[in-house]
This record gives sequence, C-alpha cells and structure tokens, in this order.
Amino acid sequence: MTHTVTLIPGDGIGPEITTAMRRVVEATGVPIEWEIADAGEHVMAEFGTPLPDHVIESVRKNKVAIKGPVTTPVGTGFRSVNVALRKALDLYTNLRPAFSIPGTGARYDNVDIVIVRENTEDLYAGIEFQEGSPEVRELIEWVASKGAGIIRPDSGISLKPISITGSERIVRAAFEYALANDRKKVTAVHKANILKYSDGLFLEVARKVAEEYAGRVEFEDRIVDMTCMGLVLYPEQFDVMVLPNLYGDIVSDLAAGLVGGLGIAPGANIGRDYAVFEPVHGSAPKYTGKDMANPTAEILTAVLMLSHLGEVEAADRVLNAVRAVLAAGTDVTYDIKRTNTGSTEGSVGTQRYADAIIEEMQRA
Ligand code: NAD
Repeated sequence: MTHTVTLIPGDGIGPEITTAMRRVVEATGVPIEWEIADAGEHVMAEFGTPLPDHVIESVRKNKVAIKGPVTTPVGTGFRSVNVALRKALDLYTNLRPAFSIPGTGARYDNVDIVIVRENTEDLYAGIEFQEGSPEVRELIEWVASKGAGIIRPDSGISLKPISITGSERIVRAAFEYALANDRKKVTAVHKANILKYSDGLFLEVARKVAEEYAGRVEFEDRIVDMTCMGLVLYPEQFDVMVLPNLYGDIVSDLAAGLVGGLGIAPGANIGRDYAVFEPVHGSAPKYTGKDMANPTAEILTAVLMLSHLGEVEAADRVLNAVRAVLAAGTDVTYDIKRTNTGSTEGSVGTQRYADAIIEEMQRA
C-alpha cells in the first residue's frame, strides 16, 4: 500500500535535511507519495502568512506529515508556525526520544529516555498582555481588587493555563506509550510545590491516571529543578517522562544534550487524528545552503514516522544504518566530527552522509 505523506521542507537548512531524509526513506523501498506543502518564512511574500490554509488542509487529508524546521518570522504577530500547526490539528502529544548512539561523541552512553511533552497549553497557550497596554493595566487592577496580589504596574504578563482535560490526555498518552513500547516507568515532572493551582492540578491528575496503570507501569513524580540535576547525574534512572509544555521543551533540549545535541534529536507531534513529525532543532539559518547541516535528527524523525505508518521493519533498517555510520565515524557531518575529534577536518556534507546511510542499508 502506498502511503501519502505531506512533506513540509521548511526554512533554512530544512530543504537540505528533508531531501537527505527523503532519499533515505525512499531507499527502504517503502512506497510513499510525498505531497509537498510549503510553509515558513519563505512563503510569507506569496501568501501573506507563513502557514497557508492549504498546508493544514494537506495534513488533514493525508493524516501524516513530516517537516523540516521553519523560521519564526520576527515582528509579524505570528508566534510560531509550529505552535499554530499543533493547535490547528490538536496535536497534543510531543514525543521526543533521547537515546545514546555510539559515535556521536555524547557525554553519556547509557541514556534511553522518551519525553512526552504536553503541546497545547501552559505558558505556550499564547495568552499574553504587553507591558503598558490598557489590557495589562485592567488585569493588574482586577488582580489587586480580588486581593490576589500586587503586580508592579510596569509588568508584562503571560498566562499559564493547565487543565484537567489537557493533563489527563497527556498523562494517559505517556502510559499508553509505556505499555505499547515495553517501558517500565513514567515520571511526571512539575513544580507543584510553588504553582499549586496549575502544576498542582497536573500532578493531581497524573496521580489519578497512574492508578489505572498500577501493577503494569511504575509511576513517580519529581520536581523539575531536581529532575534537571538528576538527568545530568544519573540519566539512566529515567524512562518515560511526562511534562507540561514549557518544562517539556526545556528538559527535552537537556536530554538531547546528554546524547549528543540537537543535530540528532528526533520528534513527533501526535493528536487523536493527525501526526506531524519534526526534529527538535530549528532552521539553523547560518548553515543554509552549505550542505553542512546534520540530517540525523530529521532521519530519526522519519524512523518514528515509518513506525507510525506500520513500516516497523523499514524503520529498524534505517535506525541500524544510522547507528552503523555514526559508529564507523568516517562519513559524518561537521558537528559529529568536532565532538569526536575536536576538529571538523574530514567531515562530509549533508548529502554524502545520507549516501553513507543508504549504502549501509544496501550492504546490510
Ligand atoms: P536552532 O536549532 O536552529 O540552532 C541552535 C544551534 O544548533 C545553532 O548553533 C545551529 O547551528 C545548531 N544546529 C541546529 N540544528 C542543526 C543541525 N541539524 N546540524 C547542525 N547544527 C545544527 O535554534 P535557533 O537558532 O534558536 O532558531 C533558529 C530558527 O529556528 C528560529 O527562527 C526559531 O524560531 C526556529 N525554530 C524552529 C523550530 C521548528 O521548526 N520546529 C524549532 C526550534 C526553532
């Protein structure tokens, strides 16, 4: 069966790394028809928006999309294409695995963590009030009138909504992921000791959901600051982690750092009806068009997509080839070469690295 997948190449290094990814996926022999849908800063002039409606429609039609990073245009009032896409399609789960691969030059070799980040609420809800605006003045007066606290008049305010609905479905997604992937433990991360009504609610809901999985998946909760220290000291203690949006964003970059950096960190945004796969990193504008960027994160993102499409054997083949090429250490991009040898000398370009993966798949 041919899978039709929306491909959003994106901005900056996006077109180069998605080309590399596409060549690797096509070399698996899995029949995929790519429906190209352009989004990002480079379509602003043509469509007046970085996220034209036809891009969202394409994902709605095909149900599955893979994208490169997109640049967030500055000063347009448009916060982020990614956030807008996640909202429009209600992609409430952001899955970010971080696992050690020999050859990346990472500081740790014993990490195997899956971060399940809530994707739709928290400080990312985009409800903000600008310093000096009539709205912020009104809000500050309202808070004072309720005796809820004094906010300095020269403040800007961002709201942090956390709901029972949002918390319940993300914690459930983490437990279901753990069950489906033979994982032993889910850790809920929060700052409930300080943020009693937002993180406190998240924790309360997490504990309730965890009861349903008692005896099948272990559960623990941890405060976010202690979690960061624990991740650096003993990353092997962590298995599946579930976090509200902002902590999930920060902790997943931390976890990416443990295993070698953004160049190798894949991701997926999954909702009830749609899934959009994308690496954790951004559009790295300074490397645009130089055939230098590391496409590993985008290729590992395609591994997640292939599994989602039921093409598990092809996903394993790509993952094994990536492992083999990184372990050999010869045909690797500048960033990997640098962490391994302290110099970029002898590194290869984006497309040559993809060639090496394809050759490895053919050999195996
Ligand atoms: P970035 O991830 O683009 O870059 C951070 C650092 O990592 C840079 O030094 C960059 O060169 C390096 N890097 C990133 N990916 C790499 C790769 N594949 N290979 C080698 N080096 C790589 O983050 P940024 O500079 O904060 O953001 C640039 C733009 O990307 C911004 O407009 C931002 O809004 C956007 N962004 C988009 C996404 C997304 O589309 N999902 C995610 C994050 C940032």
